[in-house]
Order: sequence, then C-alpha cells, then structure tokens
Amino acid sequence: MALLRIFLFLCLAFAAPAAAQTVAKHEMVAAANPLAAEAGLKMLKEGGSAVDAAIATQLVLNLVEPESSGIGGGAFMLLFDPKSGKTTSFDGRESAPASARPDMFLGPDGQARNKGQVIPGGLSVGVPGVVAMLEMAHKKHGRLPWAKLFEPAIGLAEDGFPVGRKFANTVARTSGLARLPDIKRAFYHPDGTPYREGETYKNPEFAASLRAIAKGGAKAFYSGNLAAKIVEAVQHAPENPGSMTLGDLANYKAVEREPVCGPYRDYRVCSMGPPSSGGVAIIQIMGMLQRFPVSELQPKSLSEAHLFTQASRLAYADRVKYLADSDFVNVPLTGLMDSTYIAGRAALIDPAKDMGVATAGTPPEKHTRYAPQKSPVLHGTSHLTIVDRTGQVVSMTTSVESVYGAKIMAGGFMLNNTLTDFSLQPVLNGLPVANAPAAGKRPLSAMSPTIVFDKDGKFLLSVGSPGGPPIIDYVCQSLVAMLDGGLTPQQAIDLPRQLNLNGPTMLESSPANDALAPQLTAMGHTVRVVTSESSGLHGIARIPDGYIGGADPRRDGVVLGD
Ligand code: GLU
Repeated sequence: MALLRIFLFLCLAFAAPAAAQTVAKHEMVAAANPLAAEAGLKMLKEGGSAVDAAIATQLVLNLVEPESSGIGGGAFMLLFDPKSGKTTSFDGRESAPASARPDMFLGPDGQARNKGQVIPGGLSVGVPGVVAMLEMAHKKHGRLPWAKLFEPAIGLAEDGFPVGRKFANTVARTSGLARLPDIKRAFYHPDGTPYREGETYKNPEFAASLRAIAKGGAKAFYSGNLAAKIVEAVQHAPENPGSMTLGDLANYKAVEREPVCGPYRDYRVCSMGPPSSGGVAIIQIMGMLQRFPVSELQPKSLSEAHLFTQASRLAYADRVKYLADSDFVNVPLTGLMDSTYIAGRAALIDPAKDMGVATAGTPPEKHTRYAPQKSPVLHGTSHLTIVDRTGQVVSMTTSVESVYGAKIMAGGFMLNNTLTDFSLQPVLNGLPVANAPAAGKRPLSAMSPTIVFDKDGKFLLSVGSPGGPPIIDYVCQSLVAMLDGGLTPQQAIDLPRQLNLNGPTMLESSPANDALAPQLTAMGHTVRVVTSESSGLHGIARIPDGYIGGADPRRDGVVLGD
C-alpha cells in the first residue's frame, strides 16, 4: 500500500505541468520572493551548501520582504545532513530580556493589555536570534565564506531593486502605518505616498549593517555599534519603550536542539520542538490521522475535511495548555507524543459528527498543572526550503512576528514584536500559564519547518509556512495531501485551506470548500468561510531524477533550481 502511494506520488510529480523551474536535477530553492530565491540559487551554483544558500536567501528576504522576517527577528532551521544521516534543528528564537517579568503586559487593572496596543515600540521586542543562529549553522554546515553570503543582499540594498507586489500591498493596505515614524521614513516617499510596486527601492543603512556583520560575524551584531542602535531604538521607542540592554544582546545564544520526530504510516516526520509547538502538534495530528484509511483522507473530500479538523482540535487543545519553552517549564514532551496516548486521543474522533470544543488530554508523564493560554493571530513570517547537490536539506521558518514586527527599526531593519507571543496573561483561573513571560525565556511559537523521510530513511519532502498558530494546520494539510493524496508540492500548496484551531472550522473560499461548507454544517461544525488564508507554504519533494518544488500563490514566492 505504502509503495503504491509513493508510486502514485512520483507519477503525479512527473505528470504535473512542469513549469521549467519547478523541477530540477541537482539543487533547488523555494522561497517567498524571486530575488531572495535567486540569491540562494547563486550560492548553490557556486558550490555552496543548503545552509549557505539559506543565509543568502534570508538576508535578501529581509530587504525585499521587510514586513515578514530579518536579522531583527528570530527563526528555526531544520537541517538534514546527508553525511551523518541525521536531522538537527537550530533555535534562533528571540529571548526575553533580563528585565522581563510575568506581569509585563498587564494593565493597571491586572488584566492583559490589548495585543495591538502593546506591540508598537520597545516592550514587545525580544533579543533577535537570526544572526546567531545563521552563524552557528554556517560554522557547522557552511561551505562558502560567511562574507560571500552577504554579497547579493548588499548589492541589492545599495543598487536598489524593484518593489514587489507583497511589499507594495503591505505598505498600502496595513492601516495606521503612516503614524509610525520609522515606517514612514523607510517605506514612504517624502510626499507621504507609499512605495509602489515596480519603483526602485534602496536601503543603504541596511547595506552598512550587513557589511559590518559580513566582516565581524555575529559579534558585530550583538555588540558594538549595531547593538547600541538596537538598544537605543528599544529604550527610546515613541510608544511602549522597553528595557533591553547591551547585556541582553551580548548574552544571546542560538541553541542546537534535537528535532521532534514521529511516524506517519511508513514515513517519518520531523519538525521543530519547543520553544515551537509546531512539531509536537504535527506529530499528534499525523499520529491521529494515520489511524484512518488513506481513502478517507483524500484532498477536497468531506471525510478528510472532517477528520482533519477533529485531529486538529485535539492537538490545539494540548498545545495551548502544555507547550512552552521547555528550558523554563516542564513540558511533557514524551507523553504528548506517546503512541498509546495519541491513539486514545484519536478514539475521541466521531467520524460522523463534530466533537465541539476539545479539552486537553492527560499525557502519561508527570507534568505541572497549567491553564490553557489564549492567543490572537498576527502575521509577519516567511518560510524557505532548500536542497543542495549533496542532498543537504534546509527547512527554515523565520519571523518578525506581526507585520513589520514592533514597527520600529535599527540599522535599516525591523525589530520583532515576538514577546507578544507569550501569553500576555500569566495566570488564568488561579493557575499559571506555561507560556507566561519570564527573563531569558523564549515565547511559544507555531513555526513548523518540517522534513519527511521515506521508509528507508531517505529524504522525501520538506515544507513549512508562515501564518501564526494556523501554520500547524497549513503544514499538516499539505503533508496529508502529498503523502495520502499523491499531490505534488505545488498542487498541495494550491489547495484551498481548511483549518480548525479548536473553534470554528475555517474554510478558505473556493468551489471545493464552498461545496463542503453545508455538509460540514450538517455534521455539527460551525463553519466560517473566509476569503483568503495567510499561508505562505514553500516545499520541495524528491522525485526519481531530482526535485520538484512548490511556492504559495498567496505570496510572491518562486521555486528555482538547476
Ligand atoms: N510569531 C508567530 C509564531 O512564532 C508566527 C507569526 C506568523 O507566522 O506570521 O508562531
């Protein structure tokens, strides 16, 4: 059966309309912007590793998609190393400064302040992790000199590039931006009009920051002139000034961690463990779904939409209660991914009826009693995935948290607002919240860079997405569509999104989903049909003679290879 599915997958892969660049023999980059993907491919062509290419791609993304990711933010990189046959992960998540306290986002009435009000400024800025993480990954897995990886971004920042569709739309359509002085200065003309698609945009200040890091390494970011600029921007933000210090920057450390892995039928799925909730939730959802036949998990079918949303409800219920930075709180990781526990959770799924709001389970592992957190959704993230000619694979999700992060800049780049990924309310109903803020702690994420292996342990596919907590469902839906539905990455990415974060069943409007809506309603779902979902999935799969990739049409992404 498994062999048949792989065969189907490969046949479909070859039969797919082969836009020349989406199939490649040796190496491939899938990223959210053509200039960024070109920078990555250039490094690969010059003999660089997937890690080298990821660094060049990230630096250009910072320039051309500044609202989504960059060196002022954080990231997770999942890496498959063909030499050792091992998968590892690099954690470049932002950490809370030493001054952070559990009540830092509470108002005078003891209640959490509104997330939108606490974001702009310095209070929400976590110590950025991208540069430290990239340097750590480069030291272990890079092949080209560090400074070389900066050349494409420095060139584009100094010479200028044509503003892309997403850049222009974000400036034009995000309300309230023009009142924010840094954004006004950076992304608006002196006459007050925003940069439009196709206009030439330069960022010499960012180029200078990149030159400093190219020359001095991560040290030039975490100390000296750049660090001073970051601290100045945070402490003297016009709204919500924060108290990050030079010491906080100097103390930041990226961490190499074991990824979390679990089975899906004959496949092995690996993704990011804490401080991301993504990997655990994906392993739970896939672990529940594998108990149902492949025939019931076909894309666009009623059974798939129903079963998927039910498994998702159960995983999200556990996520909000148990997941947080496991360096700070006791996360029952083994228990949450225990196959008997997951089977018990799957048994709660009624194939004919929506279960309503799921409650968290009791994983078979000692754990602290926590209250489930509440988390609003915001979007400022990007995902890239790269395979080099040695078979090294990088799946990396990178973020400044919400659009333009904290809406303040230093050195020509945006600073993140990732501290608002903590539960703003540290105690609920008399119980602590696992994801409450604390000094040095990393806020819970949903970012889920994922790599799947076949039954022989060979790389099969890699995927990830932006989108906040819905990331988990975006990634799982595409995994099921590729593994059970036999779809190519592009076909899976194009599917209209279906998700359930343990609330209403959200359907992205499309003929298929519109037709499912009344049927799901008849099964007891509260259905919300939405115009569009904010996925930005980018994926690559192995085919017999190379690779095939997919880029999300909801963004400006492309797949390039050779
Ligand atoms: N900050 C969110 C997280 O780490 C991601 C936000 C987004 O994807 O836009 O889960």
